[in-house]
Amino acid sequence: MTFQRRLVVVCAGGLMISMGLCGGARAFEEQSAQDQPPATDGGSSPSYQSRTAELRQQQLASAGGTSESERAVAAAINWLARHQNPDGSWGCAKFTSQCKDSSCRKHPKGGIGGGGGADYPTAATAFGLLPFLAAGQTHQTNGPYRKVIENGLVWMTKNQDEETGRFGGGNMYEHGLATIAICEAYGLSKDPKLKNLAQGAIRFTEDAQNDVSGGWHYTANPTTVGDTSVFGWQFMSLKSAQMAGLKVDPQTIAKAKKFLTSVSKGKASGLYSYMPESGPTPAMSSVGLLCRQHSGMKRSDAAMTEGMNYVMANLNGAKSDSYFLYYASQVMHNLPGPEWDTWNRTTRNHLVSTQVREDCAAGSWAPSEHTAGPVMSTSIHALTLEVYYRYMPTYAPVYANEPKIELPKKE
Ligand SMILES: [Zn+2]
Repeated sequence: MTFQRRLVVVCAGGLMISMGLCGGARAFEEQSAQDQPPATDGGSSPSYQSRTAELRQQQLASAGGTSESERAVAAAINWLARHQNPDGSWGCAKFTSQCKDSSCRKHPKGGIGGGGGADYPTAATAFGLLPFLAAGQTHQTNGPYRKVIENGLVWMTKNQDEETGRFGGGNMYEHGLATIAICEAYGLSKDPKLKNLAQGAIRFTEDAQNDVSGGWHYTANPTTVGDTSVFGWQFMSLKSAQMAGLKVDPQTIAKAKKFLTSVSKGKASGLYSYMPESGPTPAMSSVGLLCRQHSGMKRSDAAMTEGMNYVMANLNGAKSDSYFLYYASQVMHNLPGPEWDTWNRTTRNHLVSTQVREDCAAGSWAPSEHTAGPVMSTSIHALTLEVYYRYMPTYAPVYANEPKIELPKKE
């Protein structure tokens, strides 16, 4: 199957629209008619075990989730399911075709670029899928959303380039997001039909890296050194792949470490900037710290303390910046203690209290800064409330077997 399609791209730190031709991949759908494995809850990679029903409840209770936060996640997932397009995709702009009333149209038209008219279907479909996957639900688990997830995966894999493994039209934001989603879907389900598609996506990510700087930017193989925002999505897709048991080239990780060092700031190098020459920001620091946590930096490292204090000092800013909130909540969750308790209580209550509760829009959140439409804002806020069980806590000894992306020592 081949087709031509206009692709538009969303990014979390700005807006990029690209046009591209996309050759149809060996779509997941075309392979799934035969040899369908039985539904299972127990076949996921060990690193994804925190999302199984039993461990999810344990993690929720021990890390500070509540019945209210879980109800908010359930409502968000329900809203996403009700606003999936009939073809399995989601859209940043086209989300109202299934609406029962006009309440969803009251949401602002997206915070990125101010226009809100573009649809960004590849990124939106990845955002549509991720909250289901974070709760351990896949196209093979028994549940009310099994078909929703399957249709989303079918649409996404149809839009993967068969030769290169690339998702979308060439923007690394959308490729990174879709790669995280397919790696998680494979890691959770171990569905063999997804393995090569996920591995192919990772190969494209590896090929797209700037070999000198170790960074990624809007387009593959950039002439610039790259930026921390695009870098974060690629790095976390590599982490997702490792968790799923897929191959990740150690050289890619070694080069990525160089980039992280080049954008680290502060007395202890615990703050991070968008590019090497710019100053640190709370959002970029959260991205950098999370990548460091997943690549072996010790909790006792002075950089981690410096970064955590900086994030905490900007706690109030997280209420109006969903992107910062998303990354910083993961960073803080990995640092249990009084700071996490304060962070969690404040942000959890903020999210629960700001979710729409009435009519068709029930379960959604209005877009804030750095979110393009309610699909992205609802997804990223649901993922923030799934922080308790989406990943195993980095520094808890009981999870010492979790694969880590190993980076060389800092120069
Ligand atoms: Zn609606």
